[in-house]
Amino acid sequence: TNDKLAEWDRENFFHPSTHLAQHARGETPTRVITGGDGVFITDRDGREMLDAFAGLYCVNVGYGRTQIAEAIATQARELAYYHAYLGHGTEASITLSKMVLDRAPANMSRVYFGLGGSDANETNIKLVWYYNNILGRPEKKKIISRWRGYHGSGLMSGSLTGLGLFHAKFDLPMGQVLHTDAPYYLHREDRDQSEAAFSAQCADRLEEMILAEGPDTIAAFIGEPLLATGGIVPPPEGYWEAIQAVLRKYDILMICDEVVTGFGRLGTMFGSDHYGIEADLITIAKGLTSAYAPLSGSIVSERMWKVLEQGTDENGAFGHGWTYSAHPIGAAAGVANLALIDELGLVENAGRQGDYMLRALSDALAGHPHVAEVRGAGLLCAVELAEDTSALRAFDPGRKVVPEIVAAMARRNVIARAMPQSDIIGFAPPLCISAAEIDTVVSVTKDAVREVLG
Ligand code: PLP
Repeated sequence: TNDKLAEWDRENFFHPSTHLAQHARGETPTRVITGGDGVFITDRDGREMLDAFAGLYCVNVGYGRTQIAEAIATQARELAYYHAYLGHGTEASITLSKMVLDRAPANMSRVYFGLGGSDANETNIKLVWYYNNILGRPEKKKIISRWRGYHGSGLMSGSLTGLGLFHAKFDLPMGQVLHTDAPYYLHREDRDQSEAAFSAQCADRLEEMILAEGPDTIAAFIGEPLLATGGIVPPPEGYWEAIQAVLRKYDILMICDEVVTGFGRLGTMFGSDHYGIEADLITIAKGLTSAYAPLSGSIVSERMWKVLEQGTDENGAFGHGWTYSAHPIGAAAGVANLALIDELGLVENAGRQGDYMLRALSDALAGHPHVAEVRGAGLLCAVELAEDTSALRAFDPGRKVVPEIVAAMARRNVIARAMPQSDIIGFAPPLCISAAEIDTVVSVTKDAVREVLG
């Protein structure tokens, strides 16, 4: 029964990213999700909800895709597991590596498969350090990330993350990690500053940090093309151009974390394509399998690969691997998923429907006295609220305005996300969403904002 499951849940299940005491007391309800179809999920009571956040912005092809389910079942029947060490592979993992490279930017050369975005970023940092060791510059080790970036919850990936909640009480970030400014134009200090001038300022501050630390100590910079979990913040005009010019000047590697933006979310195959980023490493996960099975990847540029290859000639095998690297079930899901994205034209749909959604949200909400900004790119958009929008004064944190709005939306059967540590409502629906479904999301958002804020 639902009651029994709720009891077992409270007594046994340690939930991620959850208020532990509240949940144990039953103050956050146990919700048992049993099914999904297209943009909808269903719970154990038979209630259907439109998931305008695609799980955790990962179910890009939508729920209930039998092609992917069948590919997984076939793989499980034939060979559920074999490792990928010492040159072993499966048809699925080898085919998927080819499919990923065919879609990746032209300077990319190889893909290393892991399980989730966090471990892929752990891999990336080890690749950067391995690379600099081979080049005989082991002191070039520090990594610069950004405040409000999200790169995972591991020791290193959690250190790269620039949100206090993920550091507090864990003694993070670790020593090799520095954080520079988020490109958050809405919150600029100088209200008269243009986007281009603000971008130049971000690049100048980055350069100051590099010079203060010593360029020979800085190995890499990591950033999401568009800050996702930190508030769904598209970069201001000229930002990536200015940042990359600084990185090139000091021979600093660029890690582009495309866990959210990879495989179509912004209306281009990668966010790098969208913003003209030339990365040395690209992190992928989520959209790689649309979350039908866990799988991630670190895509490695030709420039890095050439060096990594040389290193193993002298030093023996590359000493980094997971039991589940390139897991056959994940790989089979990935092959079917990427084929489906092409077949259904979902990258184009994300671009088209994303434009529509942003316009519709703006039309519905931009005039509201507590709406500070409606922003986004492709099917990744946000509504930022404020107590006072001209002074950008936040609501009293005790008020929990956005969680209340998201709860009011849920009562109307639409799921959006209260972005962590902010007054931001986030939207990232499956890439197959239709205009009519977007209309539902927008009208429910408008009603919920009205209900909570008038
Ligand atoms: N990188 C980015 C940009 C993410 O948004 C996330 C998760 O949301 C991660 C890394 C971590 O991925 P995972 O939760 O699969 O470990």
